[in-house]
Amino acid sequence: MKHRSCGTCVECCNTLAIPTLQKPRCTACPHLKRPKKRKRGGCGIYHKRPDECRSFQCEWTAGHLDRNRRPDKTGIMAYWVNSQFGESLLITETRANAFDKSAEALEEALALAHRRGKAALLATLDGQGTAILPDSAAPPESTLSTEGPE
Ligand code: SF4
Ligand code: SF4
Repeated sequence: MKHRSCGTCVECCNTLAIPTLQKPRCTACPHLKRPKKRKRGGCGIYHKRPDECRSFQCEWTAGHLDRNRRPDKTGIMAYWVNSQFGESLLITETRANAFDKSAEALEEALALAHRRGKAALLATLDGQGTAILPDSAAPPESTLSTEGPE
C-alpha cells in the first residue's frame, strides 16, 4: 500500500527496465515530461502507463524508509523482488557511487531487509551485484537473478 506520494521524484522512471516499453535499465523513459515553470514533470502517459509502472512501489513510498531519504535525494532505491533467495530487497544505486555517498541510507535499507529476515541484493549503477543473505556474516559475491522490475 502506498503511504507517500512520489512528489518530484522520478528515479524509477530513469532506472528500471520496462520491457513493455522496450526501455533498458538506467535510461530515462521517453514518456517522462520535464517540469515546466509551475507545472510538475512526471509521466506523460500516466493513465495508459504499463502494468510494470502501475504495480511498482519502492520502499520509500511504502513509508518504510526515512522521510528525508527519498530516492532522488539519496541516489538509492529499494524495492522487493523475487530472486533465487526468495523474496528479497533489491537496493540499487540510481546515481554513481550513491552507496558511498549515502551510506546511512544504504544502512537503513539493509536494516529493513535484516529485520524481515530477507536477503538484500545490492546493485551498483554499473551493474555489479552482491547478495547479503539473512544469516551470512560475510556477504558472498553472487550472480543475481530476479523476477520483476530490474
Ligand atoms: S523511486 Fe519511489 S518515490 Fe521515486 S518516483 Fe519511483 S516510486 Fe516514487
Ligand atoms: S511510462 Fe510513465 S511511469 Fe512508466 S517509466 Fe515511463 S514515465 Fe515512468
